[in-house]
Amino acid sequence: SKMVYYFGKSKTEGRGKAKALLGGKGLNLAEMTSIGLPVPPGFTITTEVCDAYYKSGEKLPAGMMDEVNNAVRTLEKELGKKFGDDANPLLVSVRSGAAVSMPGMMNTILNLGLNDAATEGLAKATKNERFAFDAYRRLINMFGDVVMGMDHHVFEKAFDGVKKKYKVTEDTDVPAEGLRQLCDDYKAVYEKHTGEAFPQDPMKQLELSIQAVFGSWNTARAVRYREIEGIRGLLGTAVNVQSMVYGNMGEDSGTGVAFTRNPNTGENKFFGEFLINAQGEDVVAGIRTPQPVADMPKWNRAVHKELMEIKKTLENHYAEMQDIEFTIERGTLYMLQTRTGKRTGVAAVKIACDMVKEKLIDQKTAVLRVPANDLTQLLLPSFKPTARNAADVLCRGLPASPGAAVGKLAFTAEAAREQSDMGNSVILVRKETSPEDVDGMNAAAGILTSTGGMTSHAAVVARGWGKCCVAGAGEIDIDAKAQKIKVGGRTFGVDDVISLDGTTGEVMSGEVETQEPKLSGDFAKLMKWADEYRTLAIRTNADSPADSKRARDFGAEGIGLCRTEHMFFEGERITDMRAMILSENEKDRRAALKKLLPFQRKDFEGIFKAMNGLPVTVRLLDPPLHEFLPHTAESQKEVAKQLGVKPSEVAKRGEALHESNPMLGHRGCRLSVTYPEILEMQVRAIVEAAINCEKKKIKAQPEIMIPLVGTANELEFLRAKVEATIEETKQAKKYDGKLDILIGTMIEIPRAALTADEIAKFADFFSFGTNDLTQMTFGYSRDDVNTFLPDYLSQDILEVDPFQSLDTSGVGQLVEMGCQKGRSTKKDLKVGICGEHGGDPASIAFCHKVGLNYVSCSPFRVPIARLAAAQAAL
Ligand code: PEP
Ligand code: MG
Repeated sequence: SKMVYYFGKSKTEGRGKAKALLGGKGLNLAEMTSIGLPVPPGFTITTEVCDAYYKSGEKLPAGMMDEVNNAVRTLEKELGKKFGDDANPLLVSVRSGAAVSMPGMMNTILNLGLNDAATEGLAKATKNERFAFDAYRRLINMFGDVVMGMDHHVFEKAFDGVKKKYKVTEDTDVPAEGLRQLCDDYKAVYEKHTGEAFPQDPMKQLELSIQAVFGSWNTARAVRYREIEGIRGLLGTAVNVQSMVYGNMGEDSGTGVAFTRNPNTGENKFFGEFLINAQGEDVVAGIRTPQPVADMPKWNRAVHKELMEIKKTLENHYAEMQDIEFTIERGTLYMLQTRTGKRTGVAAVKIACDMVKEKLIDQKTAVLRVPANDLTQLLLPSFKPTARNAADVLCRGLPASPGAAVGKLAFTAEAAREQSDMGNSVILVRKETSPEDVDGMNAAAGILTSTGGMTSHAAVVARGWGKCCVAGAGEIDIDAKAQKIKVGGRTFGVDDVISLDGTTGEVMSGEVETQEPKLSGDFAKLMKWADEYRTLAIRTNADSPADSKRARDFGAEGIGLCRTEHMFFEGERITDMRAMILSENEKDRRAALKKLLPFQRKDFEGIFKAMNGLPVTVRLLDPPLHEFLPHTAESQKEVAKQLGVKPSEVAKRGEALHESNPMLGHRGCRLSVTYPEILEMQVRAIVEAAINCEKKKIKAQPEIMIPLVGTANELEFLRAKVEATIEETKQAKKYDGKLDILIGTMIEIPRAALTADEIAKFADFFSFGTNDLTQMTFGYSRDDVNTFLPDYLSQDILEVDPFQSLDTSGVGQLVEMGCQKGRSTKKDLKVGICGEHGGDPASIAFCHKVGLNYVSCSPFRVPIARLAAAQAAL
């Protein structure tokens, strides 16, 4: 099949083809060319060729270079230039471009086509010898780096030698003859390190460069980036070969990158930077600090105006915010790239809402366009204004990616990863970040750089992840070797804590207190739209009044899981809890439970009040009892003292409770079978709390959930106990109202899913506990899975962590079957999910598909679940 697609005035072959085939960059170059934007012509080699390259042991497929040859001939004709010509040579760039953008991850080669003769030709054609030799030395350097894997420093050394000879310090002060000599030096260095002369045949250069771009698809950093971003299933990268235009031809030339709207805030204002007299990657690399595009009219009013028109054309065409690269060669503007712009969650929401207002998109598109997980960023903490005002501001950098981060300093990506693995919050401090740093950037709480602009690598990557980043804080002097920074005459090291404000760019010393976010009007609007489309109800997993309230503020429509055991760890209750567990007989146990009852009742009252009018699913005690016991001799002694027994007693009872497989042991409903008095206490607390609330005009809607049921008999037996206790409590309280308390169960054991039709006879509702269901279906211990899971993921044995995203083909079958079987017994059985998966967009889509009634997730994920549920329904 066709391997090369041309774009230019003579023809544009790639328009409307698949992004998977041409990559994002290639497809958009074709698209921009077709809609009449000024794009330097060129051609794209498909991702299928990359796939074939790897499948044939890293060899270019037969016939590819013939197609490339033809495309080059067309290009030459169109531009009236010739590859390798000594009068007017054709020069091209060679760049990667996969279907999903991977900023800075892969290789680029510029000025390709220069050789000794063509450099003379370029000097003639541009009447600028200095420019021509500067381009040539850049090519030899880049080609050496990228294609031949040479160390950049050997070129730097040669450059230093020439600078010394001409007694200058800046690259730009080296005269033309110095650059001419530098090219000879570079060629010598190249030959010394590669054992071959620098290739003079432009087609040879091109062939090797294409191979190098394909090769860059599988470098460690590219693989790691795809891993972190969860990018899978791509064929490879495409290669874009495009005729060169120059931003470094003098003061009337320049190069820049821009977003058509502000990618941090979403504001509808062109947001970009440019550098005068600079080439290609200078802006992105963050080596020189660029100026804002807003200042461009002072330099060239016409180009600025044209750029603003292009913004409109592009946004009207794509109906999406674009991220563009452009170059101005001697006053003429060229578009080098456009793609959908990465943005923060805040910006995504604002842009979606604004574009609906501007009639660029409709409501449904707006709902579909905001990645549900990115809402996390809107829910991020910021610094408390009071703490902020009092903060010790060290300096101000660029507000590259919003948020608030506090942590100790880490000077390398490895150190950041290490510290974060140990559970420490760190700020990764770098002069500038490079793609090799992605893992450390991912691990850090925030990123701080001393050079680079708003579109530098650090800024782009951090924004994509919603990670706080301050870039270009030039006042900071970083000594990575000594692991110290100096700023304003003060020194900070690895043990010092700093705070970063990604929204203002400020760097502060010490830990500045953070606060919960306030949600903007656009957020509420988007949520309202989402609520119109979704059919799944969204509940929350909460076990305190504070969490319940937060979840309700985020839009939770009830509690899907209140884990009662969390309540027993607080304050003095743990003592009573331990006394209960350590009791030798029922009488002592009941005495201890009696003390726990008022605590439980109060907890429930608080939660019912917070969820006034909404259902609250309370789960009876679930974990193995030994989890509550002290494990060290020291703490056993303490507990013994509190309980007035011998330490040996505590230890003995602890041993008696020991289990080999506690998660498969004496827990869940099994506890209620052997110690029904625990169930009785909990049910009494629930009922009393509901009655007390009613007296205060609070509408409590408790639902009692029995965990870890595997057989219908278990549920039948325990349901009877719950019903009896409800009745007894009502009578004891002389209550004659009507408390409608549903009694249901969790489906978290495979057998429960398989026999759900029988279990449903005794259940008013089901809630899939997919944490345990995943554990028991895979046979992976929830608590120990990290001993092997990283290997499973890196070896592609598992695509994703099944505890994070529901394994739809395996565990999902049990969910679907359990739901269907349950409803075959009770047509209107209410079915939900309350495992961690309830907050994961992919899992939510599955729950929607199989017809669940609700998902329940942690409070902070409630908005994400609302949006994901809407997206699943659309
Ligand atoms: C579950 O197993 O999915 C569940 C929600 O219960 P827990 O995580 O408390 O075991
Ligand atoms: Mg469970």
